[in-house]
Parts: sequence; C-alpha cells; structure tokens
Amino acid sequence: MKIEKDRVVTFHYSLRSVEGEEVESSRGGEPVAYLHGHGNILTALEQALEGREAGDEFNLQLAPEQAYGRRREDARQRVPIKHLLTAGKLRPGQVVKINTSEGPKDATIIKVGRFNVDVDTNHPLAGVNLSFDITVDSVREASGEELAHGHAHGPGGHHH
Ligand code: ZN
Repeated sequence: MKIEKDRVVTFHYSLRSVEGEEVESSRGGEPVAYLHGHGNILTALEQALEGREAGDEFNLQLAPEQAYGRRREDARQRVPIKHLLTAGKLRPGQVVKINTSEGPKDATIIKVGRFNVDVDTNHPLAGVNLSFDITVDSVREASGEELAHGHAHGPGGHHH
C-alpha cells in the first residue's frame, strides 16, 4: 500500500546534523506514527514520504528553512525560575520547558542564577542542516476516528 492522504504511516528515523552528529533516533524503540496529508510532521518530510511503501528506505537532507528555522540572535531572555515547567537541578546546556502565554516552549539554558535563568529560546535544532535516514515500517488506511481527530492513534501515535 502506498503512502497517500488519509493513510496512517509508521516509520523509523535517525536524525543527524549534516556534520554527522546523531541528534535523535527512533530505532530500537517504537516507530513514529502519523496521519499522512494533515501536516502532522515537517512538510518536507511528508512530501518525501508521499508514494512510498513499507520497507522503503531513504535519506533526506533538510536546510534549516525546511526544518526548524534559522537561529535568531534576539532569542536570549532572562526568565524567572518559577516560570520553568522543568523541575530539578538546572545546568547550562540543558533543554527546559518554559510556561509562556502561548503555551509551553523549549529553551536551552545559558546561565543559572538564584531566581532567574538566562535562556536561548531558539529551537535546539534551529540553524542546523539535518539529515534524516527514514525506513517506512507500515502503511494502513486511517480509521474514521483518526480522520476526525486529524492524527494517528495507537502505538507511536496519540493516546487518549
Ligand atoms: Zn485522537
């Protein structure tokens, strides 16, 4: 069965920077599940998956503009520690979640103070040229409920 709109796809991925550093990988765990044609994943990745079938493997290189955007220089902020959703000891380089008026946002700690932290609110992968190694695991028709919700259910997808 080919990947097309309104089908549920599971796939494994390894994500590296183009310099070769592995960023994350689903291999060894559950594959990722998504509903094709509903903007659940990066647009360029969704386009590259179109028409493929279970067992297909391919590599996809993405410029920052196709992935998480360029780094912004004005993204450094001082945030009260009480606005962090991440508990426990804080250290520079750590990725934390900040409670903002637009919902939780990822940020990377630059410096830890007594009551505040200085953070970089760029996405950790902003400005990085990415290389995805993808293996399509399965393709199936979506259920009516999945189409109504606009996402995949079950392993690797949404759980309600
Ligand atoms: Zn749902």
